[in-house]
Amino acid sequence: MSEGSSAHVVLVVEDEPTIRTAVADRLRAEGFTVATAADGPSAVEAFTEHEPDVVLLDVMLPGFDGLEVCRRIQALRPVPVLMLTARDDETDLLVGLGVGADDYVTKPFSMREVVARLRALLRRVERAEQLARTTGRMDLAGLVVDPGTRRVSVDDTEVHLTPLEFDLLCALATAPGTVRPREELMREVWGWGDASGTRTLDSHVKSLRAKIGADRVRTVHGVGYALEVGR
Ligand code: CA
Repeated sequence: MSEGSSAHVVLVVEDEPTIRTAVADRLRAEGFTVATAADGPSAVEAFTEHEPDVVLLDVMLPGFDGLEVCRRIQALRPVPVLMLTARDDETDLLVGLGVGADDYVTKPFSMREVVARLRALLRRVERAEQLARTTGRMDLAGLVVDPGTRRVSVDDTEVHLTPLEFDLLCALATAPGTVRPREELMREVWGWGDASGTRTLDSHVKSLRAKIGADRVRTVHGVGYALEVGR
């Protein structure tokens, strides 16, 4: 099954055989090494066995659902997760649950979109690793962000962020007080940016605010977001 040791490994978790096979075939054709699973428990087993670089995860699964799979695998090792959702409005709900998924694609999806999103997630991981090497600890009016350890604290109390919330915070923290346009944030954090992504961005800003304090992220209507430093 392997296309060479340098290929990124994707775990595809989907109980619908037609979709699972089509996605797996397309990803192999794109040069990925692909592992598959069709239910919750076997997804967690396959994660341990194949050590994927990225996971494509359906929400509704037999055994236990995609949210539980996401929680369990993130507890084993941080990994980027692209979730397959049944409805557009389901995304808000999922982000709110904070299970640690990084991005969402609504069914029916195009194969091209899934491939682009997976590649974007892999690039985000590389950028985060680069940032960790080049940027030191940032202290912004009691909000401390450390790209090296990926730890965050507010007024000396540690705050637990999902990998994506952390990368979003880093994107804001490296330009404190500066308004970052939404499309720019989308490209920098998610690796893609268009009108369909703004709901994803807004949902993650909302969950970030709930963790670091609502007044630390300022909304500039019609433009984007800025990290507040003058508190
Ligand atoms: Ca399903």
